[in-house]
Amino acid sequence: MRILLVEDDPSVAAGVIDALGGGFDVVHVQTGKAALEAFTRDEPDLILLDLGLPDCDGTDVCRQIRSSSAVPIIVVSARGDEIDRVLTLEMGADDYVVKPFGMRELIARIRAVTRRTSQNSSTGESAPEAQRTLFGLVIDTRSQRAALNGEEIHLTPKEFDLIVYLSNDPGAIYRRQDILHDVWETNWYGTSKTLDAHIAAIRKKLGSPTWIESVRGVGFRFGGPE
Ligand code: CA
Repeated sequence: MRILLVEDDPSVAAGVIDALGGGFDVVHVQTGKAALEAFTRDEPDLILLDLGLPDCDGTDVCRQIRSSSAVPIIVVSARGDEIDRVLTLEMGADDYVVKPFGMRELIARIRAVTRRTSQNSSTGESAPEAQRTLFGLVIDTRSQRAALNGEEIHLTPKEFDLIVYLSNDPGAIYRRQDILHDVWETNWYGTSKTLDAHIAAIRKKLGSPTWIESVRGVGFRFGGPE
């Protein structure tokens, strides 16, 4: 598994390379420009992205990559305030770690983010329902792709999981805490806002808020185009 590490702080980069070097193939770059080049050249399986880069803001790098790829992105930043977390996830990152962070935590995040991808691409298991279509929205769990009225919708892995989860039973209300537990599997600080950010992103990508309806004080349900 190849990881693209975008980090201009040499001591942080050295620590990450040291921790990941044994189990992962790490490509390290220090600028946003080099990150975009390495992304195209090396086709990484996951990106660790610092936000404070010397030549540009990491958020721009994230947006650019996300506009053409669903590769898992974990933002690594010294900015820990809530607004950054929410903004980061809205621009398409899958997770967020705040400096200083432990290497064990980082590796756990990497494994959690990649677990789904490898699960979905494994060929040994039978796929009882690889594809479902709801109101013109095609969700293919084997290829992790979604299309609306024939046009591909670029979802992050987490957004994809969320829409698969909610569309398991269209119209049924799913409680917030159940969604967080079942889709995120972790209880890290800020997940409730994270959930809202993901819902907002999905609605925007599908072009209507009615696809995922809020049920005040309870949770959400899969609706439809109108
Ligand atoms: Ca930095």
